[in-house]
Parts: sequence; structure tokens; C-alpha cells
Amino acid sequence: MRTDSLIPAQDAHGSDAFGPDHPGLDAAVFDDIQRVWGFDTLRPLQAEAIAAGIAGRDSLVVMPTGGGKSLCYQVPPLAAARAGDTRIDVCVSPLIALMKDQVDGLRTNGYPAASLHSGMTNEERDDVRRAVRAGEVRLLFVSPERLLAPGFDTWLGSVGVRAIAIDEAHCISQWGHDFRPEYRQLKQLRRMFPGVSLHACTATAAPPVRDDIVAQLELIDPLVLVGNFDRPNLIYRIEPRIDGRKQILGVLERHRGDAVIVYCMSRKETEAIAEYLSKEKFNAACYHAGMTSIQRSKVQERFTAEKLDIVVATVAFGMGIDRSNVRAVVHMTIPKSIEHYQQETGRAGRDGLESECVLFHSYADVVKWNSITERSTNEARARLDEEGADAEAYEALDASVAQGRVQLEAMQRMASGAVCRHRWLVEHFGQRYEPIARESRAGDANGCGACDVCMQEVRMATDSTTVARKLLSAVVRTGQRYGASYVADVVRGAETEEVARRGHASLPTYGALKDDDKKTLTNYIFQLVERGLLARTDDEHPVLVLTVEGHRALRGEMEVALRAPPRGRGRKHATAAAVHGAHEVDASLFDRLRTLRRELATTRGVPPYVIFSDATLMEMAARKPQSLNEFAEIKGVGEKKLADLGLTFLRVINE
Ligand code: ADP
Ligand code: ZN
Repeated sequence: MRTDSLIPAQDAHGSDAFGPDHPGLDAAVFDDIQRVWGFDTLRPLQAEAIAAGIAGRDSLVVMPTGGGKSLCYQVPPLAAARAGDTRIDVCVSPLIALMKDQVDGLRTNGYPAASLHSGMTNEERDDVRRAVRAGEVRLLFVSPERLLAPGFDTWLGSVGVRAIAIDEAHCISQWGHDFRPEYRQLKQLRRMFPGVSLHACTATAAPPVRDDIVAQLELIDPLVLVGNFDRPNLIYRIEPRIDGRKQILGVLERHRGDAVIVYCMSRKETEAIAEYLSKEKFNAACYHAGMTSIQRSKVQERFTAEKLDIVVATVAFGMGIDRSNVRAVVHMTIPKSIEHYQQETGRAGRDGLESECVLFHSYADVVKWNSITERSTNEARARLDEEGADAEAYEALDASVAQGRVQLEAMQRMASGAVCRHRWLVEHFGQRYEPIARESRAGDANGCGACDVCMQEVRMATDSTTVARKLLSAVVRTGQRYGASYVADVVRGAETEEVARRGHASLPTYGALKDDDKKTLTNYIFQLVERGLLARTDDEHPVLVLTVEGHRALRGEMEVALRAPPRGRGRKHATAAAVHGAHEVDASLFDRLRTLRRELATTRGVPPYVIFSDATLMEMAARKPQSLNEFAEIKGVGEKKLADLGLTFLRVINE
């Protein structure tokens, strides 16, 4: 395909068409991208980042997960080769699994990449070194340890290094959520490789992390590119957790056969939910830090190979996952911060296709987080006592606890509020939110069209204020001496031994809300705590007491809004029914193409997405190309894959 006849921006990231918009790049670069990757447009900032890479100007690229950072350091080595430069580019990556997958993907596209890591045999490493010397490798992936290992710089120096890209660069910063000591050592790079340009990439938007990366790496006059943090293809939903198991089934029913990650707070919970889902005939497994590393990598491998649909995990399941077609990320508990939420939900829909992020939260989660924090703070303090640490160390500990509390509160505010989720997230990261036009979706015309608030799914309980007053009254009438569960029993008129013994069955509030079930009532009470109308005492057996605001509400001086239990929604998302350009996606063909992809991946020992992405398969299932020429027009089909896979896929399409 020629660069001057290209279709304009279409993907969810709002690509720009190639052409005069990107004065920094010449046509040969676009030909590379077209030929190797089969992409006909660039995403925002990719052109600028690629231009800096080619020019050898230090850069820091901040893009959300799925934004397309890899291309920014993969394209320049090809341009350098074309210009007769014999030096290689190096990419530092934190995990062997990530490196392996990237190299597999690049080689499937016919791109000269290789990696050196500790999971390889000596012979394999020798082969790579030989290939590098022979000029057969243009981009070499290494771990930070290897790059800094004694003697490696000398070897690299003898080969000649043009540029070094640092992937997941936030790992260098203590301010980030994923600090790695071995990454910290990368600050030696500037001195070890003078004259070599450095290019840092990260998805972490926080300004202190950004500044720290620039300072640690001693970047010189870096081009700093910060992408738009909105992920328009993600649909956010945040609901009170009333019956978690029932609610999660509601989500998963819309995603049978899709890849889904379910995040839980504890190991036990991951096991219980994975077991429950398996009983419900879902293909699910759990993943947590208490499992052996062999067990864990097996789960990860099966998930990547599309042999496992659902991973129920603690946050230990993270960076290594390189499956771009995760269609839903479900949180069974509130994450510790909006940063965590952004990072974890960011694993959905990296291929740019519509995907869903659902959070079920309850005030009980906040209580749990606080007790976890308290425990670990006590442990940390005991350690400091033991070490005889100075006042500064104690202050630092207190500061980090306080920061944690602020972050959790921010997350809680977002969850309990009813403001557009896209807007909230983007503004939290200090950017201005501009909704993209999205006529096909229902709801508020001024909203994002892709969150529960804008799609008007957030329902308030009928007569919220009255319901709240009845609950508050029950707390007062029972003497502010009980917890949520007991108060719920009183208002629903439960005939329990305790209620009878305490004589609460004769209270006017007894049975005042007998039409609601216990789970709903307990959740309403938690919502009142969240809104500051009730407080929970700090005792071993915490009890509910009215706050000043609570008294005002009880006297009828203010309105109280309570979220109603969510209705089950059957709406199936894009995947199957998606309309691709003017063509309807043929869902059964899409399934057959996925099967073919999985088989090919197994035979070749690579992850399926390395063969083709979901986006590419979906376009095939919509446009149904009939010839190699038509097949070549599909986004994601480069020269190598056309020759390699074209006929095989055409056969299935034409069946
Ligand atoms: P990141 O590293 O920023 O999370 P990746 O580099 O893995 O993102 O890219 C995410 C997905 O987007 C990949 O499937 C990649 O092939 C695809 N992609 C990247 N750039 C483009 C582009 N210009 N056009 C179409 N797809 C792209
Ligand atoms: Zn919205």
C-alpha cells in the first residue's frame, strides 16, 4: 500500500494519517512501518518520538498502557540501518517474559531483534552475540543487570551502540509504584556510554516520577512527550458490592470465551473465586504470590497462549502480562489508589478494541486496607526500633502512611461519586478531558458515552433520603452500640435471638425497611459511613455512631443520595457485534480465525497475539478479503506476515 493513499485515523487512540502532518519523518520511515508492522497510521506522539529516536536526541515518552510506546524505539534502528549506521540499539526491559514476547513478535514480522538474558543457554547466548557481530541484529533486548554487568559495556562498545531505550522507566524512581533497585543502577548509563542517546518510556504519569527519571538518567535536553491519558476504548463501571459473586457473573456472562482479569485483595479470595467460577463452567485459575513460581508461570503461560480465559489474581499479577486482547478487568475490591486503578485497568483493551473495567466496592474494603496498613506500619516501626533508626526514618514512615491514606481516600471519592469516570481519571492525572464524539452509544450527549455515569446506569435508591433516615434512626434507637450487620437485622425486621433478647423488636424502626435484603441494607449503611453520616469506632468490635452531619440528615435537614443495587445488564459489548467500518463483524468467522491463530501459535511456540492481534482478526472477519491483495490491505498485515500467513488465513475466510 502507498503512503499517499491511506485511510485516515480510525483506531481508538485517535491516530493521525501518515503524511504532511509529520514533517520530521521521511517517506522511507513510513514504508518501514507499513512493510514490517502493516500499520497505515501513527498514533499520537509516535511520530515525534520516532523522530527523536532517529535524530539521537534524548527523550522521555509517557503514554498510557496500550498507547504504542514500543514502536517508538523499534522504528529508529531500521532508519539507522538504512542510513548505513552499523551500530545497534539496545532496549532495557525489566522482565524476561516481556523481552521474549517482544522479540518473538518482532521476528514474526521479520524484524532483526534478539535478546540476551539469564533464561538462555550458553550456546543460545553465543549465537546471539555472533549474530550481533555479523550485523544481523539491530535491536538487542537486555535486562538491567546484564547491561551493567562487568565487561558487557566493553563488548557492546566494540560492537558500537547507537541508542539505549529504557522500557518501564518508572521502575527507576522511588516515587513510582514499582521501584526496582536494579533499575536504579541505570543512572550509570550516561557515564558508561557517553555519546549514546537515552530514551525512556513509561506509562506512569505522575510529574515527580517523570522528573526523577530525567534526573536519574541525566537526560540532556530531552524531548518530553506526554500522551493523552484517556483510554477511550475502555468502558468504566463502578458499583457498590452487594453480592459480589452474583455481580461478577453478570459481567462474565457478557465475556464468555474472552480474556478477563479479576483482581482480589487476598490470596484466599482469589482461590475461592477461581473455584466458584470453575464450578460455573468458566475457564478460570487463580494467581498469587503464595504460589510457587512454577505454578505462577504456568498460569501466566496458559493465559498468554489463550488456553486460559480468566485469571483471578492479587495485584501480584501485573507487568508480565502481555495479552493485548484482555476484554475485561474486574476489581472485586477497591484498589489502594487511583494510580493503581489506572495501572490495573490499563491492562484491558491494549489492542484498542472496546473493553470493560468494572469495580465492585464496599466500605468494608477501606476497613481492610486500613488494617493491612496498620499491621505493616507496626512491623516497619518494630524494625526501625530494632535498628535504632533516627528520627528521620520514623518521619519518612509516617509520611508514607499519610500519603497512602490520602491516595485511598481519593480512590474512595472517585468510587462513591457519580462524575464521569473518564473525566475523573484524566483530571486526576492533571490533564484536561475532552470527550470524543461517540454517537453510537446511548446516554448523556455531553459525556464520554463509555462509563456507567454517562450511560445513565447509575441508579439511586428510591426515596434515598427516607431510607437513610430510617437507618440512622435505627442506629440511634439501638443506642449506637452495634455494627452494620446488627442494625441491618433490626431494620429488615429479622427474627433473630439477639434482636429478641435485646428487646429491639418493639422499636418503631424494627422492620422499617423489610422489603430490602440484608446485603443491600448493609451496603447502604456502608455508604452512609462513606458519606460521613455515620462513623465507625476504632475498637476491637467497632460500632456505628452518628456524626454531626448524620444528626442533620436524621432531622431532615439534608438530602442523602444512596446508590441502588445494580440491575443485571445483559448488554453484550462490541466484540462480537462490532461494526468495523462499513462491515459487520462475522462473529463465527472471528471465532474460527481465533482458533486458527491459537493452533498456529502452539505449533510455533509463540503467544497468539504475535501471529495477529484481535483488531486484525476482527477486520478480517468484517472485510472478508478474497485475495492476497485484499488481505494486504488489512491493518496489522505486513510484508512478512502476508507471505507467511496470507494463504492459510484466506483459506479459512473463504471456507
Ligand atoms: P505500550 O507499550 O505503550 O503499552 P504497545 O507498544 O504494546 O503499547 O502497543 C499496544 C498495541 O498497539 C500493540 O498491539 C501494537 O501493535 C499496537 N500499535 C502500536 N502502534 C500502532 C499503530 N500506529 N497503529 C496500529 N496499532 C498500533
Ligand atoms: Zn463518562
